[in-house]
Amino acid sequence: MREYLKFYIDGKWVNPLEPKTSEVINPATEQVSGRIAMGSAADADLAVKAARKAFTRWSQSSRKERLELMQAIQAEYDRRQAEIGAAITEEMGAPAALGGGFHVQLGAGHLATAIEILKDFKFEELRGNTLLTRDPIGVCALITPWNWPMNQIAVKVFPALATGCTMILKPPQLAPYSAQLFAEVLHAAGVPAGVFNMVQGSGSVVGTALSGHPEVDMVSFTGSEFAGVEIAKNSAPSVKRVCQELGGKSAFIVLDDAAMAANVAGATSGMMINSGQTCSAGSRLLVPKARMAEAIEAARKAAADVTVGDPGGNFVMGPVVSKSQYNEIQRYIQIGIDEGATLVAGGTDRPAGLSKGWYVKPTVFANVRNDMKIGREEVFGPVLCIIGYDDIDHAIEIANDSEFGLAGYVNGADPEACNAVARRMRTGWISINGGFDFNAPFGGIKKSGNGREWGEFGFHEYLETKSLLGFVPAAPQQ
Ligand code: NDP
Repeated sequence: MREYLKFYIDGKWVNPLEPKTSEVINPATEQVSGRIAMGSAADADLAVKAARKAFTRWSQSSRKERLELMQAIQAEYDRRQAEIGAAITEEMGAPAALGGGFHVQLGAGHLATAIEILKDFKFEELRGNTLLTRDPIGVCALITPWNWPMNQIAVKVFPALATGCTMILKPPQLAPYSAQLFAEVLHAAGVPAGVFNMVQGSGSVVGTALSGHPEVDMVSFTGSEFAGVEIAKNSAPSVKRVCQELGGKSAFIVLDDAAMAANVAGATSGMMINSGQTCSAGSRLLVPKARMAEAIEAARKAAADVTVGDPGGNFVMGPVVSKSQYNEIQRYIQIGIDEGATLVAGGTDRPAGLSKGWYVKPTVFANVRNDMKIGREEVFGPVLCIIGYDDIDHAIEIANDSEFGLAGYVNGADPEACNAVARRMRTGWISINGGFDFNAPFGGIKKSGNGREWGEFGFHEYLETKSLLGFVPAAPQQ
């Protein structure tokens, strides 16, 4: 049993001001795996005050000091990767190979990228006789979700640190363990008091206190549209910047010249990674109508290869994060059946042989129409929708006919044709033939949010531009 009953505020592990705890459930067993302290508005206020006090100095810290701190964090993070991976498996059910693999590697990748960017980042730029300085925005509230817990923390904390901001992290109640270990990593690496603070608790209490706090200059949020809108409304009276990374219903277009079976198989197994709980998942697979039968066969085979079971064992897919997510996914699978889509694999209820744990069958629907509910709404589970298109224009029309605009995928044999399709897709991030890049800005348009994280663009989220007009550069030293 884990017990994490203190918050990290002003460089120290402190008791909550009001004693309140909550149990954390292991989604694989439905049993209590530990307890966390639940913060109050007063705890959040204490953390904001510590961050405000620390901002005066940290905002003036040198590039060298920030680099040294981030390199120390890197050494400490690397040392504790296995522990963090195990915590992720326990809290949100990622199979051990995934929790200890890609989950922790994403954190390491964002850290290494931020270090490289910081080495050369231009905090100042002279344009004529105007100097533009890029100043840290101030105290940042970082509110993160449970689906890729380390990725979401890393992608916010490291650029905030590198740009001279101070911060309060509010991790998700469903995945609080990895965040706790992350705070321990920063403490051990010697983060100056107040620069990084962490308060566990609910979004409705701690999250609301942070987003409405007049001393918080910016909120960076990843999660549901509902919470994103609440945060924006609550932030509005204090006119703070709000960066939102919300949901998606991303199209994965397989062009006619692609090796259909291999591409459909790849898209199907890709959809099931992390039990489908990925905002950028290619959940609408678009194939030429004439090749629907071929696609169905390939998807059926690929889904059958996705073994489901104990995340501690050697299975491809573990459970989904919670009972409420399980119920929501079951509801959507039933909707798909009722809407008349062809059920190719999976379906409602748990996979055979599993009577406990929030396990969902890897599910594929074909002959989905884009106006069906399962074609339009984010399921956030291992559910793939295959939609047929007549020609390229039709494929692009379907891809863009969505309230969301986060990600997109185009696979095909002719790179120029792929590029042309990608250019016409209205989303923030498009992967062509599996392209992946830690430096590429990540974020959405429309209801998928605003702002861009990852790489250099992630730094700009935490900076304000200041103009110094009539600036006379210092004379060069003799
Ligand atoms: P939420 O958006 O509710 O949670 C994300 C984070 O925001 C959590 O830390 C949560 O706290 C906090 N939060 C919730 N409400 C508020 C609020 N009013 N003010 C401030 N902070 C708040 O996501 P859920 O966990 O409920 O997941 C529901 C759905 O959200 C999923 O099915 C999926 O569709 C979407 N989602 C999208 C993600 C993405 O990557 N874009 C990630 C996760 C979910 P708490 O600890 O109380 O939950």
